[in-house]
Amino acid sequence: MSQQGSLADIFRRLIGSTGPISLMHFMGESNARYYSDRDPFGDEGDFVTAPEISQMFGELIGLWLADLWIQAGRTEPVHYVELGPGRGYLARDAGRAMRRYGLAPRQHLVEGSTRLRDVQLQQVPEAVFHNDLSSVPMQGPILLVANEFLDALPVRQLVMTELGWREVMVGLENDEFTLMAGQQAMDSAVPEARREAELGTIIETCPGAAAVMFEVAGRLVNQGGVALFVDYGHSEPRAGSTLQAVRAHEKRDPLASPGEADLSAHVDFEQMKQIALSREARWMGTVTQGEWLTSLGIHQRTESLSEFAPQHAEALASARDRLIDPDQMGTLFKVMGLSAPDWPQGAGFEIG
Ligand code: SAH
Repeated sequence: MSQQGSLADIFRRLIGSTGPISLMHFMGESNARYYSDRDPFGDEGDFVTAPEISQMFGELIGLWLADLWIQAGRTEPVHYVELGPGRGYLARDAGRAMRRYGLAPRQHLVEGSTRLRDVQLQQVPEAVFHNDLSSVPMQGPILLVANEFLDALPVRQLVMTELGWREVMVGLENDEFTLMAGQQAMDSAVPEARREAELGTIIETCPGAAAVMFEVAGRLVNQGGVALFVDYGHSEPRAGSTLQAVRAHEKRDPLASPGEADLSAHVDFEQMKQIALSREARWMGTVTQGEWLTSLGIHQRTESLSEFAPQHAEALASARDRLIDPDQMGTLFKVMGLSAPDWPQGAGFEIG
Protein backbone atom coordinates (compact mmCIF):
# COMPACT_ATOMS: atom_id res chain seq x y z
CA MET A 1 0.00 0.00 0.00
CA SER A 2 1.18 3.47 -0.80
CA GLN A 3 2.11 6.14 1.72
CA GLN A 4 -0.87 8.19 0.60
CA GLY A 5 -3.33 5.68 2.09
CA SER A 6 -5.57 3.43 0.08
CA LEU A 7 -7.39 5.01 -2.82
CA ALA A 8 -10.58 3.29 -1.65
CA ASP A 9 -10.37 5.27 1.63
CA ILE A 10 -9.69 8.51 -0.22
CA PHE A 11 -12.72 7.90 -2.47
CA ARG A 12 -14.90 7.02 0.55
CA ARG A 13 -14.00 10.28 2.27
CA LEU A 14 -14.50 12.28 -0.91
CA ILE A 15 -17.88 10.73 -1.69
CA GLY A 16 -18.89 11.03 1.98
CA SER A 17 -18.21 14.75 2.01
CA THR A 18 -19.14 15.91 -1.51
CA GLY A 19 -21.36 13.14 -2.92
CA PRO A 20 -20.92 10.64 -5.77
CA ILE A 21 -18.02 11.07 -8.22
CA SER A 22 -18.19 10.34 -11.92
CA LEU A 23 -17.16 6.89 -13.13
CA MET A 24 -14.62 8.69 -15.35
CA HIS A 25 -13.04 10.31 -12.29
CA PHE A 26 -13.00 6.94 -10.51
CA MET A 27 -11.32 5.18 -13.44
CA GLY A 28 -8.79 7.95 -14.11
CA GLU A 29 -7.62 8.14 -10.49
CA SER A 30 -7.61 4.35 -10.15
CA ASN A 31 -5.32 3.83 -13.12
CA ALA A 32 -3.03 6.72 -12.19
CA ARG A 33 -2.54 5.10 -8.78
CA TYR A 34 -2.34 1.59 -10.21
CA TYR A 35 0.47 2.37 -12.68
CA SER A 36 2.38 4.62 -10.29
CA ASP A 37 2.66 1.93 -7.63
CA ARG A 38 3.82 -1.14 -9.52
CA ASP A 39 5.11 -2.95 -12.57
CA PRO A 40 1.92 -4.90 -13.31
CA PHE A 41 3.15 -6.89 -16.30
CA GLY A 42 4.16 -10.51 -16.82
CA ASP A 43 3.09 -13.90 -15.53
CA GLU A 44 3.68 -12.93 -11.87
CA GLY A 45 1.87 -9.62 -12.36
CA ASP A 46 -1.69 -8.85 -13.40
CA PHE A 47 -1.62 -9.14 -17.20
CA VAL A 48 0.60 -9.98 -20.16
CA THR A 49 0.80 -7.83 -23.28
CA ALA A 50 1.92 -8.61 -26.84
CA PRO A 51 5.48 -7.18 -26.58
CA GLU A 52 6.10 -9.48 -23.62
CA ILE A 53 4.74 -12.54 -25.36
CA SER A 54 7.32 -12.34 -28.11
CA GLN A 55 10.10 -10.13 -29.45
CA MET A 56 8.56 -10.74 -32.89
CA PHE A 57 5.79 -8.26 -32.11
CA GLY A 58 8.14 -5.29 -31.67
CA GLU A 59 10.44 -6.41 -34.45
CA LEU A 60 7.65 -6.56 -37.01
CA ILE A 61 6.46 -3.11 -35.95
CA GLY A 62 10.03 -1.81 -36.29
CA LEU A 63 10.28 -3.27 -39.80
CA TRP A 64 6.94 -1.77 -40.74
CA LEU A 65 8.09 1.68 -39.60
CA ALA A 66 11.49 1.37 -41.33
CA ASP A 67 9.85 0.35 -44.60
CA LEU A 68 7.63 3.44 -44.56
CA TRP A 69 10.44 5.79 -43.55
CA ILE A 70 12.63 4.50 -46.40
CA GLN A 71 9.81 4.80 -48.93
CA ALA A 72 9.09 8.33 -47.72
CA GLY A 73 12.68 9.43 -48.39
CA ARG A 74 14.58 8.82 -45.12
CA THR A 75 13.79 12.21 -43.61
CA GLU A 76 15.90 13.33 -40.63
CA PRO A 77 15.38 14.19 -37.87
CA VAL A 78 12.71 11.60 -37.22
CA HIS A 79 11.10 10.72 -33.91
CA TYR A 80 9.96 7.37 -32.58
CA VAL A 81 7.15 8.18 -30.16
CA GLU A 82 5.56 5.54 -27.98
CA LEU A 83 2.53 6.12 -25.79
CA GLY A 84 2.40 4.09 -22.55
CA PRO A 85 5.45 1.87 -23.18
CA GLY A 86 4.92 -0.48 -20.22
CA ARG A 87 8.18 -2.32 -19.66
CA GLY A 88 9.81 -0.84 -22.77
CA TYR A 89 10.11 -4.15 -24.65
CA LEU A 90 8.30 -2.91 -27.75
CA ALA A 91 10.54 0.20 -27.98
CA ARG A 92 13.61 -2.00 -27.52
CA ASP A 93 12.63 -4.64 -30.10
CA ALA A 94 11.34 -2.13 -32.66
CA GLY A 95 14.50 -0.04 -32.14
CA ARG A 96 16.72 -3.03 -32.87
CA ALA A 97 14.81 -3.86 -36.07
CA MET A 98 14.80 -0.24 -37.27
CA ARG A 99 18.55 0.15 -36.77
CA ARG A 100 19.17 -2.76 -39.14
CA TYR A 101 17.70 -0.56 -41.85
CA GLY A 102 19.66 2.54 -40.95
CA LEU A 103 16.77 4.07 -39.02
CA ALA A 104 17.87 5.33 -35.61
CA PRO A 105 15.18 7.80 -34.53
CA ARG A 106 15.17 9.72 -31.28
CA GLN A 107 13.09 7.74 -28.84
CA HIS A 108 10.36 9.63 -27.04
CA LEU A 109 8.42 7.74 -24.42
CA VAL A 110 5.15 9.21 -23.17
CA GLU A 111 4.75 7.68 -19.72
CA GLY A 112 2.91 8.99 -16.69
CA SER A 113 4.38 6.60 -14.13
CA THR A 114 7.85 7.38 -12.72
CA ARG A 115 8.06 3.81 -11.52
CA LEU A 116 7.61 2.49 -15.08
CA ARG A 117 10.00 5.12 -16.51
CA ASP A 118 12.77 3.46 -14.48
CA VAL A 119 11.86 0.07 -15.90
CA GLN A 120 11.74 1.49 -19.46
CA LEU A 121 15.16 3.13 -19.12
CA GLN A 122 16.71 -0.29 -18.63
CA GLN A 123 15.50 -1.29 -22.11
CA VAL A 124 15.87 2.09 -23.83
CA PRO A 125 18.73 3.98 -22.17
CA GLU A 126 18.50 6.88 -24.63
CA ALA A 127 14.81 7.51 -24.01
CA VAL A 128 13.48 11.03 -23.58
CA PHE A 129 10.38 11.02 -21.36
CA HIS A 130 7.21 13.06 -21.70
CA ASN A 131 4.09 13.33 -19.54
CA ASP A 132 1.96 13.83 -22.61
CA LEU A 133 2.35 14.60 -26.29
CA SER A 134 2.58 18.36 -25.87
CA SER A 135 6.36 18.37 -25.23
CA VAL A 136 7.26 16.00 -28.11
CA PRO A 137 9.17 18.01 -30.79
CA MET A 138 7.10 19.64 -33.52
CA GLN A 139 9.83 19.40 -36.18
CA GLY A 140 10.43 16.22 -38.16
CA PRO A 141 8.12 13.29 -38.86
CA ILE A 142 6.85 11.09 -36.03
CA LEU A 143 6.70 7.30 -36.07
CA LEU A 144 4.16 6.80 -33.32
CA VAL A 145 3.19 3.52 -31.70
CA ALA A 146 0.68 2.81 -28.93
CA ASN A 147 -0.05 -0.73 -27.75
CA GLU A 148 -2.76 -1.11 -25.12
CA PHE A 149 -2.58 2.58 -24.26
CA LEU A 150 -5.97 3.96 -25.32
CA ASP A 151 -7.82 1.24 -23.39
CA ALA A 152 -6.33 2.52 -20.12
CA LEU A 153 -7.72 6.05 -20.52
CA PRO A 154 -10.83 6.79 -18.46
CA VAL A 155 -14.26 6.41 -20.05
CA ARG A 156 -17.37 8.43 -19.44
CA GLN A 157 -20.68 6.61 -19.35
CA LEU A 158 -24.13 8.06 -19.84
CA VAL A 159 -27.24 6.08 -18.93
CA MET A 160 -30.85 6.49 -20.04
CA THR A 161 -33.08 6.89 -16.98
CA GLU A 162 -36.75 7.76 -16.50
CA LEU A 163 -35.63 11.37 -16.20
CA GLY A 164 -33.53 11.30 -19.37
CA TRP A 165 -29.78 10.89 -19.91
CA ARG A 166 -27.58 11.03 -16.81
CA GLU A 167 -23.89 10.48 -16.19
CA VAL A 168 -22.94 7.20 -14.49
CA MET A 169 -21.53 8.00 -11.06
CA VAL A 170 -19.91 6.05 -8.25
CA GLY A 171 -21.52 6.45 -4.83
CA LEU A 172 -21.58 4.52 -1.59
CA GLU A 173 -24.12 2.07 -0.26
CA ASN A 174 -23.33 0.49 3.11
CA ASP A 175 -19.75 1.64 2.62
CA GLU A 176 -19.43 -0.28 -0.69
CA PHE A 177 -18.89 1.49 -4.01
CA THR A 178 -21.91 1.31 -6.23
CA LEU A 179 -22.94 2.72 -9.61
CA MET A 180 -25.75 5.26 -9.72
CA ALA A 181 -27.19 7.85 -12.07
CA GLY A 182 -26.08 11.44 -11.55
CA GLN A 183 -28.42 14.33 -10.67
CA GLN A 184 -27.66 16.49 -13.67
CA ALA A 185 -29.45 16.25 -17.02
CA MET A 186 -26.97 15.14 -19.70
CA ASP A 187 -29.27 14.95 -22.74
CA SER A 188 -27.36 17.62 -24.61
CA ALA A 189 -24.19 15.48 -24.39
CA VAL A 190 -25.84 12.71 -26.44
CA PRO A 191 -25.87 13.08 -30.24
CA GLU A 192 -29.44 13.68 -31.43
CA ALA A 193 -29.52 10.48 -33.47
CA ARG A 194 -28.93 8.41 -30.32
CA ARG A 195 -31.06 10.37 -27.86
CA GLU A 196 -34.10 8.08 -28.06
CA ALA A 197 -33.16 4.90 -26.27
CA GLU A 198 -34.54 2.24 -23.99
CA LEU A 199 -34.27 2.66 -20.24
CA GLY A 200 -30.89 1.50 -19.01
CA THR A 201 -29.07 2.03 -22.32
CA ILE A 202 -25.46 3.02 -21.73
CA ILE A 203 -23.31 5.11 -24.04
CA GLU A 204 -19.60 4.94 -23.30
CA THR A 205 -17.09 7.43 -24.68
CA CYS A 206 -13.43 8.12 -24.01
CA PRO A 207 -12.66 11.85 -24.17
CA GLY A 208 -8.95 11.20 -23.48
CA ALA A 209 -8.60 8.81 -26.42
CA ALA A 210 -10.41 11.30 -28.65
CA ALA A 211 -8.01 14.06 -27.56
CA VAL A 212 -4.97 11.87 -28.24
CA MET A 213 -6.27 11.00 -31.70
CA PHE A 214 -6.96 14.65 -32.50
CA GLU A 215 -3.41 15.63 -31.52
CA VAL A 216 -1.69 12.71 -33.27
CA ALA A 217 -3.62 13.19 -36.53
CA GLY A 218 -2.87 16.93 -36.51
CA ARG A 219 0.83 16.24 -36.00
CA LEU A 220 0.90 13.70 -38.84
CA VAL A 221 -0.52 16.31 -41.19
CA ASN A 222 1.87 19.04 -39.99
CA GLN A 223 5.06 17.05 -39.36
CA GLY A 224 4.68 13.96 -41.54
CA GLY A 225 4.96 10.39 -40.36
CA VAL A 226 2.79 7.44 -39.40
CA ALA A 227 0.96 6.13 -36.35
CA LEU A 228 -0.01 2.65 -35.29
CA PHE A 229 -2.61 1.98 -32.60
CA VAL A 230 -2.97 -1.58 -31.36
CA ASP A 231 -5.67 -2.31 -28.84
CA TYR A 232 -8.65 -4.40 -28.03
CA GLY A 233 -11.90 -2.97 -29.21
CA HIS A 234 -14.63 -2.83 -31.78
CA SER A 235 -14.92 -1.33 -35.23
CA GLU A 236 -18.68 -0.67 -35.19
CA PRO A 237 -20.29 1.78 -32.76
CA ARG A 238 -22.26 0.03 -30.06
CA ALA A 239 -24.03 0.64 -26.81
CA GLY A 240 -23.20 -0.78 -23.39
CA SER A 241 -20.44 -0.76 -20.83
CA THR A 242 -17.12 -2.40 -21.69
CA LEU A 243 -15.36 -1.38 -18.50
CA GLN A 244 -13.42 -4.23 -16.96
CA ALA A 245 -10.92 -4.82 -14.20
CA VAL A 246 -8.10 -7.36 -14.30
CA ARG A 247 -5.98 -8.48 -11.40
CA ALA A 248 -3.70 -11.51 -11.30
CA HIS A 249 -4.92 -12.51 -14.80
CA GLU A 250 -8.56 -12.64 -13.71
CA LYS A 251 -11.51 -10.39 -14.32
CA ARG A 252 -12.71 -8.60 -11.20
CA ASP A 253 -15.47 -6.22 -10.19
CA PRO A 254 -14.22 -2.84 -11.53
CA LEU A 255 -15.40 -1.04 -8.37
CA ALA A 256 -14.01 -3.50 -5.83
CA SER A 257 -10.45 -2.31 -5.36
CA PRO A 258 -9.63 1.06 -6.93
CA GLY A 259 -5.93 1.50 -7.63
CA GLU A 260 -5.24 -2.22 -7.15
CA ALA A 261 -6.56 -3.62 -10.43
CA ASP A 262 -6.07 -2.54 -14.05
CA LEU A 263 -9.18 -0.82 -15.38
CA SER A 264 -9.69 -0.73 -19.12
CA ALA A 265 -12.39 -0.37 -21.74
CA HIS A 266 -12.77 -1.26 -25.41
CA VAL A 267 -11.44 1.24 -27.90
CA ASP A 268 -14.00 2.62 -30.34
CA PHE A 269 -11.91 2.36 -33.52
CA GLU A 270 -14.63 3.76 -35.72
CA GLN A 271 -14.70 6.97 -33.71
CA MET A 272 -10.87 7.11 -33.70
CA LYS A 273 -10.91 6.82 -37.49
CA GLN A 274 -13.50 9.60 -37.86
CA ILE A 275 -11.45 11.95 -35.67
CA ALA A 276 -8.29 11.25 -37.69
CA LEU A 277 -10.15 11.85 -40.96
CA SER A 278 -11.62 15.10 -39.63
CA ARG A 279 -8.04 16.35 -39.25
CA GLU A 280 -7.26 15.20 -42.79
CA ALA A 281 -4.80 12.53 -41.78
CA ARG A 282 -4.89 9.36 -43.87
CA TRP A 283 -6.52 6.28 -42.41
CA MET A 284 -4.64 3.24 -43.73
CA GLY A 285 -7.14 0.78 -42.33
CA THR A 286 -8.17 -1.11 -39.20
CA VAL A 287 -7.53 -4.85 -39.32
CA THR A 288 -7.30 -7.61 -36.75
CA GLN A 289 -3.95 -8.21 -35.07
CA GLY A 290 -3.93 -11.75 -36.48
CA GLU A 291 -4.35 -10.55 -40.07
CA TRP A 292 -1.84 -7.77 -39.67
CA LEU A 293 0.96 -9.85 -38.13
CA THR A 294 0.35 -12.61 -40.65
CA SER A 295 0.65 -10.30 -43.62
CA LEU A 296 3.80 -8.79 -42.12
CA GLY A 297 5.38 -12.24 -42.09
CA ILE A 298 5.11 -13.55 -38.53
CA HIS A 299 5.13 -17.14 -39.85
CA GLN A 300 8.37 -16.62 -41.78
CA ARG A 301 9.89 -14.81 -38.80
CA THR A 302 8.93 -17.71 -36.49
CA GLU A 303 10.57 -20.17 -38.87
CA SER A 304 13.80 -18.27 -39.25
CA LEU A 305 14.14 -17.74 -35.49
CA SER A 306 13.42 -21.46 -34.98
CA GLU A 307 16.11 -22.48 -37.46
CA PHE A 308 18.52 -20.28 -35.58
CA ALA A 309 17.49 -21.70 -32.18
CA PRO A 310 15.75 -25.07 -32.66
CA GLN A 311 15.53 -25.55 -28.88
CA HIS A 312 13.09 -22.60 -28.79
CA ALA A 313 10.99 -23.67 -31.79
CA GLU A 314 8.05 -24.83 -29.68
CA ALA A 315 8.00 -21.72 -27.51
CA LEU A 316 8.22 -19.50 -30.59
CA ALA A 317 5.30 -21.25 -32.26
CA SER A 318 3.16 -21.01 -29.17
CA ALA A 319 3.99 -17.30 -28.72
CA ARG A 320 3.03 -16.70 -32.36
CA ASP A 321 -0.25 -18.55 -31.85
CA ARG A 322 -1.05 -16.47 -28.79
CA LEU A 323 -0.62 -13.31 -30.85
CA ILE A 324 -2.60 -14.37 -33.93
CA ASP A 325 -5.09 -17.13 -33.09
CA PRO A 326 -8.70 -15.94 -33.31
CA ASP A 327 -9.52 -17.43 -29.90
CA GLN A 328 -6.51 -15.76 -28.29
CA MET A 329 -5.43 -12.19 -29.18
CA GLY A 330 -5.79 -12.48 -32.96
CA THR A 331 -9.32 -11.19 -33.44
CA LEU A 332 -10.18 -9.13 -30.37
CA PHE A 333 -7.12 -6.95 -30.89
CA LYS A 334 -7.17 -4.51 -33.78
CA VAL A 335 -4.42 -2.58 -35.50
CA MET A 336 -5.20 0.86 -36.91
CA GLY A 337 -2.71 2.65 -39.16
CA LEU A 338 -2.69 6.40 -39.83
CA SER A 339 -0.30 8.55 -41.82
CA ALA A 340 0.37 11.97 -43.22
CA PRO A 341 -1.53 12.35 -46.51
CA ASP A 342 1.68 12.23 -48.56
CA TRP A 343 3.24 9.22 -46.82
CA PRO A 344 2.99 5.78 -48.45
CA GLN A 345 0.39 3.16 -47.56
CA GLY A 346 1.67 0.77 -44.90
CA ALA A 347 2.05 -2.98 -45.35
CA GLY A 348 -0.76 -5.09 -43.91
CA PHE A 349 -3.55 -2.60 -44.63
CA GLU A 350 -4.29 -3.52 -48.23
CA ILE A 351 -7.78 -4.53 -47.14
CA GLY A 352 -8.49 -1.12 -45.62
N1 SAH B 1 2.31 -0.64 -24.12
C1 SAH B 1 2.68 -1.46 -22.99
C2 SAH B 1 1.89 -1.15 -21.71
C3 SAH B 1 0.40 -1.03 -21.77
S1 SAH B 1 -0.30 -0.64 -20.20
C4 SAH B 1 2.58 -2.91 -23.37
O1 SAH B 1 1.98 -3.20 -24.38
O2 SAH B 1 3.13 -3.75 -22.67
C5 SAH B 1 -0.63 1.08 -20.28
C6 SAH B 1 0.58 1.99 -20.24
O3 SAH B 1 0.13 3.34 -20.38
C7 SAH B 1 1.41 1.97 -18.98
O4 SAH B 1 2.76 2.17 -19.33
C8 SAH B 1 0.85 3.16 -18.20
O5 SAH B 1 1.71 3.64 -17.20
C9 SAH B 1 0.62 4.15 -19.30
N2 SAH B 1 -0.42 5.15 -19.06
C10 SAH B 1 -1.71 4.91 -18.70
N3 SAH B 1 -2.41 6.06 -18.62
C11 SAH B 1 -1.55 7.05 -18.96
C12 SAH B 1 -1.68 8.47 -19.08
N4 SAH B 1 -2.83 9.09 -18.84
N5 SAH B 1 -0.58 9.18 -19.47
C13 SAH B 1 0.58 8.55 -19.74
N6 SAH B 1 0.77 7.21 -19.64
C14 SAH B 1 -0.28 6.48 -19.25
